[in-house]
Amino acid sequence: MPADALVPPALRDVQVRPRTEGWQQAKDAAGRPLLQFASPKRGKPPTHLADLDPAERRARLVELGLPAFRAGQIARHYFTRYTSDPAEMTDLPAAGREELVSGLLPELMTEVRRFTTDRGDTIKFLWKLHDGALVESVLMRYPGRITLCVSSQAGCGMNCPFCATGQAGLTRNMSAAEIVDQVVRANRVVADGQLGGKRAGETTPERVSNIVFMGMGEPLANYNRLMSAVRTMVAPAPDGLAMSARHITVSTVGLVPAIRKLADEQVPVTFALSLHAPDDHLRDELIPVNSRWKVDEALDAARAYFDATGRRVSIEYALIKDMNDHGWRADLLAEKLNARGHGWVHVNPIPLNPTPGSVWTASEPEVQREFVRRLEAAGIPTTIRDTRGKEIDGACGQLAAADA
Ligand code: SAH
Repeated sequence: MPADALVPPALRDVQVRPRTEGWQQAKDAAGRPLLQFASPKRGKPPTHLADLDPAERRARLVELGLPAFRAGQIARHYFTRYTSDPAEMTDLPAAGREELVSGLLPELMTEVRRFTTDRGDTIKFLWKLHDGALVESVLMRYPGRITLCVSSQAGCGMNCPFCATGQAGLTRNMSAAEIVDQVVRANRVVADGQLGGKRAGETTPERVSNIVFMGMGEPLANYNRLMSAVRTMVAPAPDGLAMSARHITVSTVGLVPAIRKLADEQVPVTFALSLHAPDDHLRDELIPVNSRWKVDEALDAARAYFDATGRRVSIEYALIKDMNDHGWRADLLAEKLNARGHGWVHVNPIPLNPTPGSVWTASEPEVQREFVRRLEAAGIPTTIRDTRGKEIDGACGQLAAADA
């Protein structure tokens, strides 16, 4: 590959390789890092309103021998008042109300624990699903927006050695409703005034405005449920959460066929690619799925996403000391992005967050500055991610959902 000719041979020799301590990266029969695409079979979560479209919700009630027209009322309670409690639904007849509500809103997850930091404006939730699987979501207040980082799978099968979620492998895919319920439950917490940092005198009702699929799991490995959840998030009230697709970010390790499918969906979500290295030489080791889809294929798919949607894409780049933070890698990244045009992409460097068993650390501040300077000098808009919740193991790559 001509661009990789830029890799100085001397630097290839001194390349620091990913290493771990205290845990073993799972390997396949050929000795390569194990990739798990298929969800292990487990008991299915109960079918919930948020797994169904409006017609299916009515059909579901009929199936249960209940009046179909109540589906809209129940949806309104769930999506606009964030409640699943029949006691709060006084517009439904008292007789048979419990049965009606539990038919469409079975309990999907229970809150096991809540961790709070940043004076209360960052909250990490630990949820237990019906089969005991544990997942996390992180709620963050920023000036002018409230962002929820959601999980799409319990665990993750992509096995990236610097990410805590991958260390235990994939437990299972989450259902569409389990994905949506994280948002509804967070909205309830916000509506109840439990998220800190609200400005004094602010009276407008608040709710989650932005979603990032950057919690546990690889969203594009759970494609159909991801898309079903996204459609419910953007559906107008009372059928869904009436969110803006552009405020929903789907982040992927780079499953190229799924990126191309996403581009055709007519739901212009914001797209983010976890690149972390501009050369296959290093990316093969940092991102095991690079064995299937190489850097150039992933970047071509990202560019195609921009062409199909007009949405500027993000390239995520965790800056890891002496591993991927070399000046020449910034130059190579800029060259590969500029080779595919201008104005279609920006880079989001993420200072590496510590994870158990990982022996490396974030880049030195001056190295980080130089990396950003080189990208910007090449005309690539670059913003360092303000990563939240390190103290509560709630930051990028730290979600392990351990109940300890
Ligand atoms: N599976 C999706 C979502 C993962 S989390 C994906 O790979 O994109 C979102 C981002 O956090 C990804 O870019 C991921 O690579 C990054 N990340 C993982 N571990 C990290 C760590 N220890 N420090 C900083 N960022 C990390």
